[in-house]
Amino acid sequence: MSDWKEQVERVVRQVVAEVLSAEGDAALQDLSSGSLRKPLVAANWKMHQTRAEVRQFADRLPELSASVESVICPPAILLPILAEALGVDSPVRLGAQNMHPANKGAFTGEHSAPMLRDADARYVIVGHSERRGLFGEEDDFVAEKVKAALKAGLRPILCIGEVLAEREEGATFRVLRGQLTAALSELGAPAPDPADLVVAYEPIWAIGTGRTASVAQAGEALAFVRERLAEIFGWAWADRVRLLYGGSATPENATDLASRPDLDGFLVGGASLDPEKFARIVLAMHEARAAKKEGPR
Ligand code: PEP
Repeated sequence: MSDWKEQVERVVRQVVAEVLSAEGDAALQDLSSGSLRKPLVAANWKMHQTRAEVRQFADRLPELSASVESVICPPAILLPILAEALGVDSPVRLGAQNMHPANKGAFTGEHSAPMLRDADARYVIVGHSERRGLFGEEDDFVAEKVKAALKAGLRPILCIGEVLAEREEGATFRVLRGQLTAALSELGAPAPDPADLVVAYEPIWAIGTGRTASVAQAGEALAFVRERLAEIFGWAWADRVRLLYGGSATPENATDLASRPDLDGFLVGGASLDPEKFARIVLAMHEARAAKKEGPR
């Protein structure tokens, strides 16, 4: 689609969302029940798996609930193998773990958003703390990636989160605000389709450590993120953005975490390498969302 057509489509969507929100509390309450946000569980395989292991994973993967969008982000070299192993009818979507904001050029070792899209990736993790911390990626580079991903039709899973010292000195919200504001600063108006942006709150002290944020910590951080999104793009828009929690999520802690109203899913590292564990986290998300819909409004 040409750029101007995309822009017109976005403006129309934004106007519709604003009209919906203007219809009053009833519409807002429906939105805040989460019914317009399809839960999403994304696996971040990091630098793990061989071709043979990918095939074993796909063979052992239980059937996943269609009410939850399941995404697997393998190392880029394994995208075609995973696609083949899952089969054309699989509901599982593919994602990438990183991208370069340029479409092409002299960037040895990198992959562009159009290349990843061409390899059937629908999502891309952006701003992961390992990229920020180990590879020196700064906020402005993350912002360029978010913009380039959306332009290429890839949905960014934008990761933000604080280190332990920041949490301990009470700076968590300041850090989240700074990272979020910077990452979205390249977008401008009109806002992108809210369904195309995913934000993952990943407290760095909880990643790969076996230490998980408490339900209250995750809940208040996600509520803060949604509020900040609303400050930038309005509530009707922010209410449609999916927010994930990441940081040692497991089948054991997923159910409690998923009870938070702003939590729409998980970004899962270690536990996602085990197909049964991944499927149990997807199931926990499915059950939590079903319970929220049945519960009192
Ligand atoms: C991650 O790397 O995004 C992550 C959440 O990892 P883990 O689940 O292993 O903490």
